[in-house]
Amino acid sequence: SIYLFFFVCVCVVALLLDGSFIHPLPPRGRPEDPQRMLEGDAAHARSPGSRSKDSLDLRDIFIAVKTTRKYHKSRLQLLSQTWVSKAKEQTFIFTDGEDKELRHKAGLNIINTNCSAAHTRQALCCKMSVEYDKFIESQKKWFCHMDDDNYVILPSLLELLSSYSHTQDVYLGRPSLDHPIEAAERVKSDGSVSVKFWFATGGAGFCISRGLALKMSPWASLGNFITTAEKIRLPDDCTVGYIIEALLEVPLTHTGLFHSHLENLQRLPTDNILKQVTLSYGGFENRRNVVSVGGAFSLAEDPTRFKTVHCLLYPDTEWCPRKTRH
Ligand code: UDP
Ligand code: MN
Repeated sequence: SIYLFFFVCVCVVALLLDGSFIHPLPPRGRPEDPQRMLEGDAAHARSPGSRSKDSLDLRDIFIAVKTTRKYHKSRLQLLSQTWVSKAKEQTFIFTDGEDKELRHKAGLNIINTNCSAAHTRQALCCKMSVEYDKFIESQKKWFCHMDDDNYVILPSLLELLSSYSHTQDVYLGRPSLDHPIEAAERVKSDGSVSVKFWFATGGAGFCISRGLALKMSPWASLGNFITTAEKIRLPDDCTVGYIIEALLEVPLTHTGLFHSHLENLQRLPTDNILKQVTLSYGGFENRRNVVSVGGAFSLAEDPTRFKTVHCLLYPDTEWCPRKTRH
């Protein structure tokens, strides 16, 4: 037993010398950090040694895709052929109409929200409310909301989220405005005062840590999200920002890695596209707004550029042209 005693001593000394025992790593991506925008974007440059020990797995991320019946063919099909096929287990499609053909597609998780198919605030908030409840139920570490015109670059998403802890309060996304939005405060007071807050635009996708999502519960769970949205009379993504920034006082971590078609996507440097977290597309024919990336398909063959991006990321995909495969 004296040998055992020495062995234990050696282990204790080794732990102390390691340093992480006495000086635990400081929490990263602290929302109150004024450098947080840089933080989010610098995640890619961080050395592997500084990453948390229990590494994040793609299976820890709950990805919600908001869609509607009329876009099942024109938008969802493209997603299920591309990035969703690489994240089938953790991607959930939130829609508003039964579609047998879509349901029979191998491995898609489809959730019929029974929300109205109208493009109204109520209908969109109803879907966000169901997304939230399903995420809480899922026990996953991160909630990411996407629109059906987003391409998610999964390795980048994983790398970005890996630089934060899901137990901390993290709200990550891109604002669509260059200033905070102002709304009458009708939840904490009677509406005579106004509040200013940032929100991440839903069209670029955004992510919320489980720790923060749990704190949102009084205003977001089991239909409360719809009540909150009705009180402030703002769309779903603004309501998320309101609950997080105005009610919980957790600031949005601004990141330039998420993209919606509200920006000029052509301007994204071609050699940086695969490092982004989300992409989008908008306006066809004369007003086309798509990322500028060459490769597998022409603009006519791949007007959204999603297939081209997908073949650059996963060249071994069977429908990618042979010449781009390794
Ligand atoms: N959407 C919806 N119901 C509708 C119209 C749109 O759920 O009646 C969804 C759509 O599937 C997409 C998001 O809302 O995920 C944004 O729609 P869209 O891209 O058409 O509009 P924009 O990006 O211009 O706001
Ligand atoms: Mn859109």
